[in-house]
Formats: sequence, C-alpha cells, structure tokens
Amino acid sequence: MAERLSVGALRIINTSDASSFPPNPILQVLTVKELNSNPTSGAPKRYRVVLSDSINYAQSMLSTQLNHLVAENKLQKGAFVQLTQFTVNVMKERKILIVLGLNVLTELGVMDKIGNPAGLETVDALRQQQNEQNNASAPRTGISTSTNSFYGNNAAATAPAPPPMMKKPAAPNSLSTIIYPIEGLSPYQNKWTIRARVTNKSEVKHWHNQRGEGKLFSVNLLDESGEIRATGFNDQVDAFYDILQEGSVYYISRCRVNIAKKQYTNVQNEYELMFERDTEIRKAEDQTAVPVAKFSFVSLQEVGDVAKDAVIDVIGVLQNVGPVQQITSRATSRGFDKRDITIVDQTGYEMRVTLWGKTAIEFSVSEESILAFKGVKVNDFQGRSLSMLTSSTMSVDPDIQESHLLKGWYDGQGRGQEFAKHSVISSTLSTTGRSAERKNIAEVQAEHLGMSETPDYFSLKGTIVYIRKKNVSYPACPAADCNKKVFDQGGSWRCEKCNKEYDAPQYRYIITIAVGDHTGQLWLNVFDDVGKLIMHKTADELNDLQENDENAFMNCMAEACYMPYIFQCRAKQDNFKGEMRVRYTVMSINQMDWKEESKRLINFIESAQ
Ligand SMILES: [Zn+2]
Repeated sequence: MAERLSVGALRIINTSDASSFPPNPILQVLTVKELNSNPTSGAPKRYRVVLSDSINYAQSMLSTQLNHLVAENKLQKGAFVQLTQFTVNVMKERKILIVLGLNVLTELGVMDKIGNPAGLETVDALRQQQNEQNNASAPRTGISTSTNSFYGNNAAATAPAPPPMMKKPAAPNSLSTIIYPIEGLSPYQNKWTIRARVTNKSEVKHWHNQRGEGKLFSVNLLDESGEIRATGFNDQVDAFYDILQEGSVYYISRCRVNIAKKQYTNVQNEYELMFERDTEIRKAEDQTAVPVAKFSFVSLQEVGDVAKDAVIDVIGVLQNVGPVQQITSRATSRGFDKRDITIVDQTGYEMRVTLWGKTAIEFSVSEESILAFKGVKVNDFQGRSLSMLTSSTMSVDPDIQESHLLKGWYDGQGRGQEFAKHSVISSTLSTTGRSAERKNIAEVQAEHLGMSETPDYFSLKGTIVYIRKKNVSYPACPAADCNKKVFDQGGSWRCEKCNKEYDAPQYRYIITIAVGDHTGQLWLNVFDDVGKLIMHKTADELNDLQENDENAFMNCMAEACYMPYIFQCRAKQDNFKGEMRVRYTVMSINQMDWKEESKRLINFIESAQ
C-alpha cells in the first residue's frame, strides 16, 4: 500500500499555490473526528479528518456533502482515499485542507498507520509569510514575531493581529484574499473572502409592519464549490445594490454567516450571508474563473414524478407565449402580473411555466429559443406545471451542451412533434402513491374547490367525528361489475339493468361521514371500498348486525368514529333537485403515518421560523 501513497504531497500542498498542487493525491486516513457544533443550530455535522502521505500528516475539513462516507463507515481510520477536489484555506491562522471531493479506495483496505508522519509546521509557515508581507509593506517597527520564540507555535497562533497600519490593502496575493470556497463557509470563521458570480439579483423589496419599515434585496452567489444566498438590508441596499450586477464576479468578505431560511430560496446551502456595515465587495479582475451557472436538469417527463413544491432546474424549447394577465391572490387580495409560457423537450412532454411581475411583463423571447430555468417550483395544479420564484433564473439560449443538443433535436424532429401533458388524473390518482395537494378544511372551502367545471382533487388530514346511521348501505346487484340497486320482490331481488332476479342482494356502502380538523368540518361521501376500510366489516355484515343486533351495530359505529385518516378526495359540482352544490367524495384513505406526519410538522414549523 505504501507505494500507492502520494509521498510528499502534503508538503507541496502546504507550501505552494493551487497551480502546483499534485493532482488527485492518494493519502491515508489517520483519524476522523466530528467537530463540536451547536446541536440546536440545525446545521449538519462537520468532520475533521487527519490525512497522511507517510512523511507528513495534515488536518482537513470534510465538505458536508461527503458526510455520508463517514456515516456509511467507508471513510474510517486506516482507510485510503484519493482526493478529487480540494483547496487550502486559512482558518484561525492555520492552513487547513478543505476536501470537497474524494474517493475511498476500498480495494486497498484498512491498515495501521504507514510510516511515522510528522506534522507540518503550518503556523510557522503562515506567520513567516505574513511577516514577509508586513515587512515589505510597512516601515520596520523593530518588533519581532519570530516563531522560534519561547512560546513556539502557541504564541504565534494567539499573537495579536498586526496593527491596522501594517495591513496591506486587499490585493490578489495578500492574506486577506486567500479565497475560500463557498462550501467552506460557516459561522465558526469570520476571516474569509469568496470569489463568486452573482447569478441572480432580486428587486429591492420594501416592507411595512408594526415594528417599522425597511427594504432589502438578495443575490445568489456561485463558485466552483457551490452556491450561497446573500441578503442586504436598508443601508446595505444603498451601499451594494448598484455595485452587484447579475452575471459579474466579485470578491466578497466580512459578511455575517447565518443558518439559511430555506423556505425563501432554492439555493442548496445550509448557510446564508448577510451584508453588514463592514462588508467589502470588489469586482474581480478575472471574470472568467467562476462558472456561469450550475444546472441539474430534470427532463419534462420526469417532472411528473417530482414532488409538488420541489425546486428544480429544467431546459426546453419555447413553444408558446401567453398574454400578460392580471390576477388577484386569494390569500392576500393583492394584484399580480403573470404570464404563462410553454416549453417542450425531447422526452415528448410540454410544460407550462408561469412568470411573474417584471419578468412576465418584459418577456420578449422569440419562439423556438432555448430557455434554461434554474430553481423553478413544481406545482400540481392541473397536472404538473412550473412557476418561477423570485430566486429563479432564466437563461435564453445558454451556451451549454444541453442547449445545443436540444436545438439539434428540435430542428431535426421536434418541430413537427405532438407533445404530451402530465394529466390531472396522473397527478392525483396515480398508482405511484403521489397524492393531491394537502388542504385543511378552511382552505377547501375558501378556495371554492369543486365549484368550477372540472373537479378538484385534494387530500385532507382529518378525524371522523360523525357517521350518519341511516342509509349506511343499499342492496346492490351481486353480479360482477353491476352495482345497481336491486328491489325486493318478496323472496327475490330484481336488477333492472341485468334484467335478472337474485336470491339475496349484496349490500354496498354509501356512508355519509363528517370529518373534522382544526379549521372546520366537512361532509364526505364514502362508497363501498373505503367503507369497508372504515367500518372493518363488509356492508353485508354490518347490515346483518343492524337488523339483528342493535347493540353490536352501535358498537361498530362507535368504534369507527374518532379515527384519524388521510382522505384523498374529489370535489365536484352536483345538480341536486335543481340546485348546484359541491359534493365531496372520498376516493381512498390512508392510515396515519405518524412518522411521516411528524416530519411534515417539523418542516412546517421550521419553515415558519
Ligand atoms: Zn345488475
């Protein structure tokens, strides 16, 4: 194994710049240790890993996206790893290797420590570098900060920072611009600079409430390692809004790092940045070093399998551009401008995408252009559709491979093709277990579900609070697939439809139940399949009890009551004695999955914070 190790790699990484780093070094894991983090912060665990090349060892921080390797016990003491992506950062005046990607070489097994590796004098090297810079840029002060002092490394590590006059202004080679990957940011360090591209800039939003008024804006920032969202309030809007331009690359330092409020963003990062009075932002000289945008496309066909409210990336050919419409939000009574457009892709599906506000009004892309969307939200209104969020971005004819492939397909065969939609039925009653949007009873009523021409589907978490005892079931034709009501002919039962007489009917449920939740109560109709699940008996059995054992019947009714379920329902207009009204029918029920429901609640509570 020893011959596979990249002997000497750590010293090179420690002393040279990124351009001379050895590619994909192979190292041995000496220890894996979880860093102490605040367990209530909600942030994922972080691991510190000591890596050895058999001559030296070095501390490294594992990017959280690699945490699963620790959980799966693949990344363990004695194992061998090949780094595929890494960088070196300065944390608390120490150089630390940040590992963004690695492969565990399981074929090399697990071994005792190879060789007798020594620690790298990271602090010494760093102080020396710093001193050289200070000496070069400031008058001699006669103060020595030699690391060979009595206090050794500790003294150096805790030595006071040089006075401000000795600080060099930010320049590409100075310490303050050693670039952190966005992925490496956390609230536990505050000396960092990122180099990132603004991929999205919001409009300035104003708010007024009891506590006062204010304004804010936010940007999405991207580098090779990941993305983060940054927000500026009030004075920081004035200071930075005009400086930050979408598409440009900036050096950014001195922001507060907070836990991300994920309900407001599609950015995959557990943290977010807040601009402060001291925040420094400077446009980068090199605008090309940072990727333009990172997409993780979902095909339009696959959108049918994505959960509602998921935030995804899609790419397609623009087929149709609808007019700008003014709509009023049911929830807030505020007016919005919206515009629906349709895109298609080579999976043969079309998809409606809704644009809002300024984007909707100013949309002027010509048909058959390629549109790439980052961070659009999945709705299940009328099958499946997509909706832009304020954090979403739309690129027209982006210069990426997917775009060129799509263009080629469209010119070749796509232009004349028919496209499929994700239908309402497939999104509400599919066998994949996907279900209609969860509503509470007040929402079902406030949103007038079922009052339009097409039925609406919804799911409801509720408890049966009452079961009507009259007409629980009806005598039905026992022939297969004929559920018609049959009539007692005195000794035999006649089905008009089958034109036949039977010795006995088969009873089928038509139960009316009242279901309650914390917002109200709703009457639901239940037919035979669901009735059996609720009553734990067939309608024949229950009918028998009702006729012969009143007590047992009442007990059965009582036991079925006060049970919680998830009801999958349809709301549909119904002409009842000349009057239109909405009938709610239970299509299926699910037992409460308490674990799943608890997760939903936790997500809801977290999103409300
Ligand atoms: Zn029949």
